[in-house]
Amino acid sequence: TLSDRLGTVFDRLRGRGALSEQDVRDAMREVRVALLEADVALPVARRFIDSVTEKAVGQDVLRSVTPGQMVVKIVHDELVEMLGGGDGAVAEGLNLAAKPPVVIMMVGLQGSGKTTTTAKLAKWIREKHGKKALMASLDVARPAAQEQLAVLGTQVEVATLPIVQGQQPVDIARRALESARLQAIDVLLLDTAGRLHVDQALMDEMKAVAGVSAPTEVLLVVDSLTGQDAVNVAQSFSGEVPLTGVVLTRMDGDARGGAALSMRHVTGKPIKFAGTGEKLDAIEAFHPGRVADRILGMGDVVSLVEKAATAIKEEEAEAMARRMAKGQFDLNDLRMQLKQMQNMGGLGMLAGMMPGMKKAKQAMAQSGVDDKVLVHMDAIIGSMTPKERERPELMNAKRKKRVAAGAGLEVQDVNKLLKMHQEMARAMKQIRKMGGFKGLAAAFG
Ligand code: GDP
Ligand code: MG
Repeated sequence: TLSDRLGTVFDRLRGRGALSEQDVRDAMREVRVALLEADVALPVARRFIDSVTEKAVGQDVLRSVTPGQMVVKIVHDELVEMLGGGDGAVAEGLNLAAKPPVVIMMVGLQGSGKTTTTAKLAKWIREKHGKKALMASLDVARPAAQEQLAVLGTQVEVATLPIVQGQQPVDIARRALESARLQAIDVLLLDTAGRLHVDQALMDEMKAVAGVSAPTEVLLVVDSLTGQDAVNVAQSFSGEVPLTGVVLTRMDGDARGGAALSMRHVTGKPIKFAGTGEKLDAIEAFHPGRVADRILGMGDVVSLVEKAATAIKEEEAEAMARRMAKGQFDLNDLRMQLKQMQNMGGLGMLAGMMPGMKKAKQAMAQSGVDDKVLVHMDAIIGSMTPKERERPELMNAKRKKRVAAGAGLEVQDVNKLLKMHQEMARAMKQIRKMGGFKGLAAAFG
């Protein structure tokens, strides 16, 4: 797998300190081969490598992890990004909030798993959302295709549109809509016909069906085992029908993951679900984080690096607490505090976490501090010299002007920041007089 290959490369990355350009380039050569072997499209692989290289070169290696582990983490995060982003987040689900009947149209090649996925989704909609669903097969090309859906409907306890022989797909779609309206159906799933290969007749049929049914979701079903072919299919469809998402089937047998990696890049649409078996409950919301773990097979390394990063943050926080207890609080300390606020999800998140923080947030909001200001303040401190950060009293008019220009802001913004720092430093001194944080806790306890 990709992970076996990477493991040996990353083991060779030695030394301490920042990752060197040569180290990263050597590792990326292997990553590139591994990606291509996993059937990732060439342009996608190239973009991936560029992005990882840019992020990794010069990156400091955290204490207690090896440079190789550090690179694994960067590669992992980039994989997640490429698969749709979000920290273990679920790709957007289905949009079922539109005016009923909400139409979900399934498209794809023959054998990709459309009919099975239609039934899986119908079951999922009925059970997870408690909505009334109706399924209709528009596949008049394949013998017994409509009967196949009817059988699955019985299994998942979702109604199917009665079969009328001799009707064309567009007519069946119209009849399905009508029937859904009459029965007050919430969600109508249209299982369309496929072909062995993409052709114009298929595209015309899909467009006509979409034309009469105005689907809220058009899901492209592709077989992840077909790798690069799946990507080509996605490319053809995405130019012709207004896709809203992708379902990757046979993820239970997908050892390579290349299709998943290229899909987002090629269609620009999220992978919404993964089919993970033949059973009718074998469908999952697509988790980029989990799939990245699987491709890399190095989930343990990733969590190790995350732990190391947290430990260092904790050490930094403790060091700052010690400094503050001594009444020291320079602009470096302020900056670290701002960073932590941002890491915790900005001011809004902070207020939600700690009841006492609500007041602090209100005070900050009143003095015009919002999340954007956090970024501005960081930019201002970033434009100062180390000396200025340690000794803010050095900031004269000339220096303020230089720093404001460096941050792309106004001198008055610099003044605001300095004032805020002064107030906070004064508060720190106050706390110290009261016997440090222990005394503070006692006074409020
Ligand atoms: P269609 O031609 O696109 O409608 O494809 P079908 O829904 O008829 O599926 C073709 C075959 O693929 C059937 O045997 C399904 O059981 C199987 N299949 C569909 N989805 C999955 C999946 O996620 N995993 C596995 N292992 N098999 C699947
Ligand atoms: Mg079918």
